[in-house]
Amino acid sequence: MKIVGLTGGIGSGKSTVAQMFRELEVPVYDSDEEAKTLMISSKEVKEAITALLGKKAYREGFLDRAYIADKVFKDPELLQQLNAIVHPAVRAHFLEWAQKKSVPYVIQETALIFENGVQSNYDFTILVTAPREIRLRRVMERDGATEQQILQRMENQLEDEEKINLADFCIENVELETTAQKVKQLHTKLLALSAPKF
Ligand code: ATP
Repeated sequence: MKIVGLTGGIGSGKSTVAQMFRELEVPVYDSDEEAKTLMISSKEVKEAITALLGKKAYREGFLDRAYIADKVFKDPELLQQLNAIVHPAVRAHFLEWAQKKSVPYVIQETALIFENGVQSNYDFTILVTAPREIRLRRVMERDGATEQQILQRMENQLEDEEKINLADFCIENVELETTAQKVKQLHTKLLALSAPKF
């Protein structure tokens, strides 16, 4: 089975494209969602986070996201230490999940693949792109976020121009119908690439 990484900048439409692959019956693992779950459900992850950030990281068993964000976003080293706890746990959980699927390929949707230099974890990578202005507008509408807040989040991400050279496949997501067509074509290609060679 092949492992495909799906990524893209904020508001590019990763989740939208992921949903289109699901509709073609491709199993998609949502790393962000699974990370949130593991941070609560995994005893080891929870203990390591408490040791790193203190008991206040959890309130009545739930993650205090505002407290954690406040601590790690002004301290890059602490963020790196938090990632060093969460990323390997997500990777192990993903591989366990993937092992149970009997399909030619599975997709792992992850916000930061090239930024974290983890592209070698994948047989193929897909980058979703969209013009910056469109991405800003989408996220402002979706999250009610200000332009400044989104630009701040974009700062942690590489520009599309840099990522395009690193990705195996790119999907520009502007018109939904065109995107769905591109997803179908790429699915056919990935099925061919995932077929066992005799
Ligand atoms: P994030 O990195 O913030 O999680 P994302 O890359 O997963 O974002 P989506 O959540 O898929 O992006 O899309 C952002 C918003 O834009 C959503 O509200 C989605 O419905 C909308 N959207 C995505 N693609 C299109 C499109 N082609 N046309 C119109 N709206 C779109």
